Amino acid sequence: MNDHDLTVTRQTFDEVMVPVFSPAAFVPDRGLGSRVWDTQGRDYIDFAGGIAVTALGHAHPELLKVLAEQGGKLWHIGNGYTNEPVLRLAKRLEALTFADRAFFANSGAEANEAALKLARRVAFDRHGVEKDEIISFTQSFHGRTFFTVSVGGQPKYSEGFGPVPQGIVHLPYNDIEAARKAIGAKTCAVIVEPIQGEGGVIPADPAFLKALREACDQHGALLIFDEVQTGVGRSGYFYAYEDTGVTPDILTTAKALGNGFPIGAMLTTEALAAHFKVGVHGTTYGGNPLGAAIAEKVVELISDPKLLEGVRSRSVALKDHLAELNERFGIFKEVRGKGLLIGAELTDAFKGRAKDFVTAAGQHGVIMLMAGPDVVRFVPSLIMPLDDMNEGFARLAKAIEAVVGATADAPAR
Ligand SMILES: *Cc1c(COP(=O)(O)O)cnc(C)c1O
Repeated sequence: MNDHDLTVTRQTFDEVMVPVFSPAAFVPDRGLGSRVWDTQGRDYIDFAGGIAVTALGHAHPELLKVLAEQGGKLWHIGNGYTNEPVLRLAKRLEALTFADRAFFANSGAEANEAALKLARRVAFDRHGVEKDEIISFTQSFHGRTFFTVSVGGQPKYSEGFGPVPQGIVHLPYNDIEAARKAIGAKTCAVIVEPIQGEGGVIPADPAFLKALREACDQHGALLIFDEVQTGVGRSGYFYAYEDTGVTPDILTTAKALGNGFPIGAMLTTEALAAHFKVGVHGTTYGGNPLGAAIAEKVVELISDPKLLEGVRSRSVALKDHLAELNERFGIFKEVRGKGLLIGAELTDAFKGRAKDFVTAAGQHGVIMLMAGPDVVRFVPSLIMPLDDMNEGFARLAKAIEAVVGATADAPAR
């Protein structure tokens, strides 16, 4: 390559990147609020929020201010020193939750890795080596490190890499009887998403979560809520557990926490945290002052009751739009989810074709997401202007018309 030839296009992706992703045909260039512009200057309404991450939209002025201020002060210092932003962030998160100790990482997978290691360590200290079983649920998603992907309930992500970490059991989600039967003396921890996000936007039955809590208490096992996707206002509550009547022992959070600046956290109690002594776990970047300062502002803004009320009202507006689309096109079998984590499952006639709708949406100026092959997912900014939402659904109707029309025109086979 000539040093001066740095012309890049979507095509360049296939030439220079490890091919684990298959990105859209257009290349996003900048964003503002719930709108994004690509390198050709075309604009998009953003219903995906960078996969449930940019909860305050793109280029939020208060976050830009913090980024510039902390960016000019101190980015990184390493965990041989602490810093004021991370201590304030921990205080804020602990004031909002059951937790009184925090560990910061850089992603959801790392937060879960810390949670699972802590659970194993607690069981080891309290009960010995035999109590090592981690229970999780089919279709669940907990990240892509080898431990978290093995705990996750989607074999397609964990198979083909050789021997997997041992002591992991997968049960059907929302099956109270199966959970009661399986949770026992050997159980170290149960990890569950209050709403399965990647698995198809499937809310947990509150009675199921309650049964998990009871069985964990009965057998001295820890209950871990993976709120990486449901957390930080997404469900209309700061954390989704608040509306379930069940309190976990460990909670993991990431995605929206940094509004796009990579940060994750594991929150827990003082008694459990005490099992992680100096040097037992660690990270280079976790808890850095730049990420912590941004997350502190995100938490301050999203924990405002008025903002959370706005999430719940936008949820109603979004579901109304989906009902209207369905009256016109009859393509959804079920619309489910909470707050601004909404999934629309396609009817059998469109089974496996969520990707076609996402692609068509892109061609009509809408950024969309799927949750498995049969579900289109909406996880927009929590402060999405209603005008943008309306415009997005008008464009989406055209995209759906194109897919449905093409399907109807196709010769029968
Ligand atoms: C996205 C997600 C993860 C993984 O987070 P990364 O930041 O990609 O590592 C874990 N759990 C849930 C529930 C998620 O939605």
